[in-house]
Amino acid sequence: MRRRLALTLSLAMLSACTAAAQSVRLYVFDCGRLKAANPAVLLDHGVTTTDMSVSAYLIVHPRGTLLWDAGVIPDALVKPEGTTEARATVHTTLKGQLAKIGYEPSDIKYLALSHNHYDHSANANAFASATWLVQRPERAVMFPATPPATPINGAARWSELKNSKTKILDGDYDVFGDGTVVIISTPGHTPGHQSLLVNLKKTGAVLLSGDLYHYPAERTLKDFTPFASLGNPRQEAASKAKVEALLKEKHAQLWIQHDLLADAKLKKSPAFYQ
Ligand SMILES: [Zn+2]
Repeated sequence: MRRRLALTLSLAMLSACTAAAQSVRLYVFDCGRLKAANPAVLLDHGVTTTDMSVSAYLIVHPRGTLLWDAGVIPDALVKPEGTTEARATVHTTLKGQLAKIGYEPSDIKYLALSHNHYDHSANANAFASATWLVQRPERAVMFPATPPATPINGAARWSELKNSKTKILDGDYDVFGDGTVVIISTPGHTPGHQSLLVNLKKTGAVLLSGDLYHYPAERTLKDFTPFASLGNPRQEAASKAKVEALLKEKHAQLWIQHDLLADAKLKKSPAFYQ
């Protein structure tokens, strides 16, 4: 009897999980372009397109929404004809793209940044009412007990997260508790860098890279790690090995967020993946 009950329960959980996977949607937002800081080293390694895409993503789950990353230029500075700031150019606001599919920033339940860098976090303050999902060492870098003499580039644009409802993470984290949307701890580029695994019913598993990789050549060329010196190269190598194993295990696609050519082929919101 007890065995039958357990079987019934596990079947119920399985069907709940399948139902959730069926209804999970992944939207891709165009948050502009970024020029490479040092294209010469990239061109030397055969990277012919050195400009990078900047994207944000919305995951819509029956139990709530998760915004992944927040762009490179704050919406308030984005003019209809486009705005360029340093190496970045943006033509469309994140808020406008969310509004087109019926969401206000206050509707967003969870905010997770792959990492704190300015090209992933420019609109973070607009989502300070969400629950912030952040790795413990990343938050420690962003809000140290003693503020640094020189603030981190872009810090004013995520400063309001300090008072957000916050879920501090110590590793991988299953956001909705059913395995469909899982934050994968991938430190190295920054101390609490993270990636996102989304299990979609039709599309299959997709892993959003954050800045674990910037260009596909970093996967194919041995020892080509043009950004490793920005962070902790040993940690970054371990995170890459972890992700490559996960991609195999889950038969997942890797979406390199900064890969302009691959990003150009993705459906953009209001279209979505499911
Ligand atoms: Zn980046």
